[in-house]
Amino acid sequence: MSETVCTLYKKCGGCQMMNLPYAEQLKWKEKQVRILLDRFGKVSPIIGMEHPYHYRNKVQAAFKPLRDGRVISGVYQSGTHRVVPVDSCLLEDETADAIIVTIRSMLRGFKIPAYDEDSGRGVLRHVLVKRGFQSGEVMVVLVSAKPAFPSVHNFVRALLDKHPEITTVILNVNPYATNLVLGPNERVLYGKGYIEDTLCGKVFRISAKSFYQINPVQTEILYGTAMDFAGLTGTETVIDAYCGIGTIGLVASDRAGKVIGVELNRDAVRDAIENSKRNGVRNARFYCGDAGEFMTATAENGGTADVLFMDPPRAGSSPEFLRSALRLAPQRIVYISCNPETQARDLAALTKGGYKVRAIRPVDMFPHTNHVETVVLMSRVGERP
Ligand code: SAH
Repeated sequence: MSETVCTLYKKCGGCQMMNLPYAEQLKWKEKQVRILLDRFGKVSPIIGMEHPYHYRNKVQAAFKPLRDGRVISGVYQSGTHRVVPVDSCLLEDETADAIIVTIRSMLRGFKIPAYDEDSGRGVLRHVLVKRGFQSGEVMVVLVSAKPAFPSVHNFVRALLDKHPEITTVILNVNPYATNLVLGPNERVLYGKGYIEDTLCGKVFRISAKSFYQINPVQTEILYGTAMDFAGLTGTETVIDAYCGIGTIGLVASDRAGKVIGVELNRDAVRDAIENSKRNGVRNARFYCGDAGEFMTATAENGGTADVLFMDPPRAGSSPEFLRSALRLAPQRIVYISCNPETQARDLAALTKGGYKVRAIRPVDMFPHTNHVETVVLMSRVGERP
């Protein structure tokens, strides 16, 4: 494969590994996993991406006025609030990038000033675009510093003329001095206010704020690996811990007796419940709360589970979670992690408590960045305590 190197590679900082050919990146990632997890079992080769470009289905651009009246849009340089102008990015969805450039070119004609973080003047702060990989549906979120957005309806009409592929437009108001892109209030300007996409045969609703994996091609491979590891036969009770919008649990629901999902973020839980209805899933329940506390309560109430999927954030699981996992004593644990360091720490606790690692498989979810994702299968040695 010919290698493409981005001209903004050093300035932007988003792709830490763009200087290496993709095959070398994969080797490096596999080695990181091997260094940390080899002591638990054999690390299988990493699954790379066939076309490791333009995979990001969610694109965010910051807007900034220049002194001479021009407006730039792009990404914040890593760790700063300096905007690096980006018109097209090798990782981002190309339709999303084109829409952002069009919006920038329309601002002057509609007399819409870009927001200036230093003076607090201006209107348009960010544009967020999400695109359904399978469905092709496109959401555009205009993030405004003020509730009043000049001639917004004419602006949206003109934008839809240029990009008929857009299926919904949202105005989000973020008046705060914050690092968060989206503010609390939003108004649907066009379409249904969300997009849908299909992942592993299930349809998921994606709203402006909800979390959704950003690389759908590799997510199918990741979840597919997790399902293979889980070895479900249709009767098992499955826990999906740290379930987000319920993706793993809902994908597992066809092959399980019962699915129980737990997640801290209330909006995500609401999406998970909607998603189970949308797919006619009747054997899944989703709960809002801390995964550790939920597992402890389940164990105390005499609950059981056959298979535990766990997909914690970078910090890994809490000691309470790991203790209650050992008490619940599922036959198999499938641990998906975006941080092999905390995963190694948690595997040490679980293997000490009676589990053995049976398979370790890294999957490259974020080509050209230094992030690694790893799925680990464990099973219980001996009888339930
Ligand atoms: N499994 C999902 C999401 C994984 S991201 C997917 O594949 O899409 C990790 C999730 O853990 C986030 O949704 C985050 O809100 C949630 N989370 C973080 N800390 C948590 C805790 N203590 N208890 C439960 N969920 C938590």
